[in-house]
Amino acid sequence: MYLYAGKILRVDLSAGTITDEPLNRDWLRQFWGGWGLAAKYFTELANPAVDALDASTPMIFMTGALAGTLAPLSGRFCMVSRSPQTGTIFESNVGGSIGPELKHAGYDGMIITGRAAGPVFISINDADVSIEDAGYLWGKPIFETEKALKAASGCPAAKSMAIGPAGENLIPFACVGSEAYRQFGRGGVGALFGSKNLKGVVIRGTGGIRVADMEKFLSVARTASAENLMTEANLWAKTDGTPLIVNVTNEMGLHPTRNFTYGVNEDFGAIGTESVKKATISQRACISCPLGCGKFTSVDGVAVEGPEYETLCLGGSNCGMNDLGSIIKFNRTCDDWGVDTITTGATIAMAMDMKEMGLHDFGLEFGGKAEYLSVVEEIATLSTDRGRDLALGTRGLGEKYNAGHLAVNSKGLEFPAYDPRGNHGMGLAYATSERGACHLRAFPLFSETPFDHEALVAEVVSGQNFNGIKWSMCICDFWGSVNSTILADLLSAALGETVTSEELDLAGERIWNLARLFNLKAGFTAKDDTLPDKILKTALKKGPNDGSTMTSADLADMKQRYYTSREWDSNGVPTQAKRAALSL
Ligand code: SF4
Repeated sequence: MYLYAGKILRVDLSAGTITDEPLNRDWLRQFWGGWGLAAKYFTELANPAVDALDASTPMIFMTGALAGTLAPLSGRFCMVSRSPQTGTIFESNVGGSIGPELKHAGYDGMIITGRAAGPVFISINDADVSIEDAGYLWGKPIFETEKALKAASGCPAAKSMAIGPAGENLIPFACVGSEAYRQFGRGGVGALFGSKNLKGVVIRGTGGIRVADMEKFLSVARTASAENLMTEANLWAKTDGTPLIVNVTNEMGLHPTRNFTYGVNEDFGAIGTESVKKATISQRACISCPLGCGKFTSVDGVAVEGPEYETLCLGGSNCGMNDLGSIIKFNRTCDDWGVDTITTGATIAMAMDMKEMGLHDFGLEFGGKAEYLSVVEEIATLSTDRGRDLALGTRGLGEKYNAGHLAVNSKGLEFPAYDPRGNHGMGLAYATSERGACHLRAFPLFSETPFDHEALVAEVVSGQNFNGIKWSMCICDFWGSVNSTILADLLSAALGETVTSEELDLAGERIWNLARLFNLKAGFTAKDDTLPDKILKTALKKGPNDGSTMTSADLADMKQRYYTSREWDSNGVPTQAKRAALSL
């Protein structure tokens, strides 16, 4: 079989069983791999009425269709399950090289169900798979755990992923770390591991992937790399990386500052791209990536891979924090103890705002360093009253303290770092994302008409559809100019069959609708496609968008246009005709 390993690994942690099953080939030309194929397996296996942390909830890990080949930037690794934070179907993905390692071990994907009687890790050494005791690792942070997992595997080249105390404590925004500083970041994948008593997974794969026409495949891959990838549209990731976006969003006036109160951080230079460059000590690339955007920084002897833009903003500007050294420490602590930097930063910022508004004093104030740093570990370990409160995330904190008007999330997932009052398309993208507020589904940030609803709806729909197929190939987001023609050419050469860009575009739309149908079955409605009061009822302050709003009327107008464009009814339900056209 070309391109695919042809096998799925199933691990039932309740029964302690490990089995192989053939990859379902009937689904491949409809869902391809990664997000799409994992979503297909998940929706066939999961009960929409069952809670995310129930032992029966499956976690589906899936490699991209092109993973393990020399297709550029194709090495991310997807996981689909239900989020303990949002309750929705949830796709999360991680960079590095652990996905291709699984494929080289002989598996396209892995389905994990059940709950072990005590802490365990899964060891995969090609076809030799076992469930091992992890009692000695429970309670340990991620960096130490990953080292121990590699030692246990007997192979320093093995790839690993693990949770820290946050995942063990079922924090709804706990992440899974992989290869130090890479994360399945959002939505609480770490809590899913914790609910299964699964501390981590270590993988060693020594096999390869077959393609139908190697010469042609390499030619297509090299041409795509030279003519499309390594061009001005993408090289910013190599030269500056995501810290450049600190400068860009400040210039645009939609850079979340002080809990989404201001659109500019007047001191952004202290944490912007030039400051991060000065602190950079080395770079790192994921497998099959000539861009190598990963930057290690160090200040005062504390080093981290990052901080990426979202961390610089949500853990920086949004907390009134303009000290790069403190943000590096914050980033490192989040990564090691296992919490998502976006949600953690946003929740701390909300707590700071609550103090400023006289609602509650958690000892956290905008720009204050010491408490900002110490509270991260308190959240991950649930060791203090305020740690337990902030572990609720912004939605839970708002409910407990009657402060929902300061909570900035959609479907319970905290906003990434682009304020929709400066671009209504970002608001629609957050409101309609299947996993809550997310910038990885559609990204109309650079639209020349940021308040033109009709144009933005078209951009959001096409972005969501294309990302459906891009995440099914597990292609990194920083190949911003990749398109379905390039992907179709790579797949055609690899499979020895004609794959068209049109069928990939249709697959992307199918995947988007599949996720929507699961959420509808799980009880979500059009009412959940919304934005928080802080965005809908207050105006942005300062900068080029001073006074800009995105009102309920704006959102309602965009939603109805969006539903119509998607051929969904006025309640946001895909019509029978649309489902038939997509074979759903
Ligand atoms: S651009 Fe960065 S995140 Fe993307 S594959 Fe390359 S190194 Fe990894």
